[in-house]
Amino acid sequence: MIYADRKETVKTYEDLLHSMQESGRQYDLEKIEKAYHIAEKAHGDQRRLSGELYISHPLAVACLVADLGLDTDSIIAALLHDVVEDTTVPLDTLKSEFGGDVALLVDGVTKLTRIKFSSVEEQQAENLRKMLMAMSNDVRVMLIKLCDRLHNMRTGDAWPEKKRLFKAQETMEVYAPIAHRLGISNIKEELEDRSIYYLDPFAYKTICSHLEKNEDAESFISGIAEKIGERLKENGLEKFYIKKRVKSVYGIYRKMYLQNRDFEEIYDVYAVRIILDTVGECYNALGIIHDMYHPIPSRFKDYISTPKPNGYQSLHTTVIGHEGIAFEVQIRTWEMDHTAEYGVAAHWKYKAGVTAKDKIDDRVAWVRQLLESQRETDDAGDLLHDIKSELLPEEVFAFTPKGDVINLPAGATVIDFAYAIHSAVGNRMIGAKVNSRMTPIDHKVATGEIIEIIMGPKDKGPSRDWLNIVRTGEAKNKIRNWFKKERKEENMAEGKAALEKELRRNMINIPADRYDEFMRDMARRQRMNSVDEMYAALGYGGLQMSRLIMKIKEEYAKLDKEPAPPVEVKIPEKTEKTNGGVIVEGIDNCLTKFAKCCNPLPGDAIVGFVTRGFGVSIHKADCINAKMGLEGEDAPRWVRAHWAENVKESFTSSLEISAIDRGGLMMDITVLIAEMRLPCYAMQARRLNDGRAAVSLTIGINNTEHLNSVIAKIRKVEGVTSVQRV
Ligand code: MN
Repeated sequence: MIYADRKETVKTYEDLLHSMQESGRQYDLEKIEKAYHIAEKAHGDQRRLSGELYISHPLAVACLVADLGLDTDSIIAALLHDVVEDTTVPLDTLKSEFGGDVALLVDGVTKLTRIKFSSVEEQQAENLRKMLMAMSNDVRVMLIKLCDRLHNMRTGDAWPEKKRLFKAQETMEVYAPIAHRLGISNIKEELEDRSIYYLDPFAYKTICSHLEKNEDAESFISGIAEKIGERLKENGLEKFYIKKRVKSVYGIYRKMYLQNRDFEEIYDVYAVRIILDTVGECYNALGIIHDMYHPIPSRFKDYISTPKPNGYQSLHTTVIGHEGIAFEVQIRTWEMDHTAEYGVAAHWKYKAGVTAKDKIDDRVAWVRQLLESQRETDDAGDLLHDIKSELLPEEVFAFTPKGDVINLPAGATVIDFAYAIHSAVGNRMIGAKVNSRMTPIDHKVATGEIIEIIMGPKDKGPSRDWLNIVRTGEAKNKIRNWFKKERKEENMAEGKAALEKELRRNMINIPADRYDEFMRDMARRQRMNSVDEMYAALGYGGLQMSRLIMKIKEEYAKLDKEPAPPVEVKIPEKTEKTNGGVIVEGIDNCLTKFAKCCNPLPGDAIVGFVTRGFGVSIHKADCINAKMGLEGEDAPRWVRAHWAENVKESFTSSLEISAIDRGGLMMDITVLIAEMRLPCYAMQARRLNDGRAAVSLTIGINNTEHLNSVIAKIRKVEGVTSVQRV
């Protein structure tokens, strides 16, 4: 039995050698032989579920990799792809035996293999695809993985039912779309067909029997191929190749079962593919076909002038044959055909023998070219995104221990990860294990990591510092929400203290008697219901201190300069009567007196205060008592007032004169006052220590104009430095 197995294995190895010969590429056979022996020895007597020796699997995968035309390193990596995961050979050994490139490829495939998906629900599938693309940062990793999956799907009959279904669904949702995006149509179609074979065996058999029964169809399509060949020759096209093609099982499945058509209704079950040397010949051939058969207009597609997003180019047309049976004709060049079958791998097939550096440059060029061709198409977004994440990682994908994929922006931390799972997980987080090791909570998530969040007691709650660590808005909001809900009192105290500190720091000193009103106003402006709510918001971070303090500064500046706001008094009727040179709005014949605190003069802006029993007291509008009074509970008693025209009465005014002391100063001042015929009610002079003198003077004056001229004259007295009205 074992002997028979070995013989089988040797035969498969010969197949591999044959594939390599076919590819026309130079291989390092010695190195490949060595890899084969290491793999064979390492897997030893391990067997697959089907009973075959395990080594048959890596050998078969290596064959597929060689068929794609990949290089020596890729074939070696294919032979060794399950060694690290399933045997005792460490990665370091592979590195020392075959070099860093092989080790990286094997490591990449191993990582992809290790991923255990929990489900392939629709929303997860796209994440999975993106993640796999991002993880295989060398396209060869993904190509080897696709070959691995293809061979497993070919040989999965021994799997238990549940595994078959799961693998098939995963292949359908994740790997076939990736093969499609990489443009490898052969592998894509076979993956899909094998998936349907497991997922819907009945439909699979039905379709196969339809195809088998149709022997007529086979001779029909052969006849057509022959006729087309003849006509092409008649038209001077000598070098061409015609392939007869049957649509894939899955392609038919989609039309029959998802679009509800009968098998007979499907136009393009049978197709003829014409392969030519040049694009010109392709269009030429198209003309000839349309001349031979009647085309169905809606079914003509020119993917040569407008390639598909994955780079596919071809002319497609569906025509009606002479027997009334429709069939599809695909016309393309050899190069286009090659690209269609091998996609990204076609690149290696063409460029056999280039150096490693060229390869990387070419790969980037290939990606660029792909991006260019994507631009106008609809599903450009997806692939663009995939390729971008390959070259400039901007997203990361990590796993929960259960295998759910969490998609985060690059730079996100394990805290973001926890909140992305659920806010309850984030709020209870006390630590995290990444790939089974404890890590700091600011650890930045990398693609492919398996992250386990360690949770504390239910009421544990996040830390405020996390707001500075997390990267996603989602995590920030969830953290703030927690503080908002759970710690109201604490937030209020914290917010209030923080605001007071910030006010001191900015030297904003709101008068105590205006403080509450000021803050109420600020809270209203922030759309908060109360000052407490504003404090709480500051506490949990829902309101930014920097923003609030900016607004406070604005309002504070106004508060400082603002003269007392004009008093608004309801005026019952507009009657103005002169009284003592002052008109008090709305009050007739009232008794007025001039307040001693500010001695208003005609020309000053004034306001009146309705006293209890002594008429109206007139103050200067900027008098401190007037300002204060307007704020107090007596505010309604303050009334507008102004000077009547032609005030003749005399008023008193006090002046404070500063001067450099000298003999005769007082005399000069008194002489001046006498000359101006001003009544002088009081005069006091004192000598100051620094050789200066101060003189206080109370004089009779008519109005501010009069006063200003008096002040100007006093200023001219020798030695006088300033004169101020007090
Ligand atoms: Mn494998």
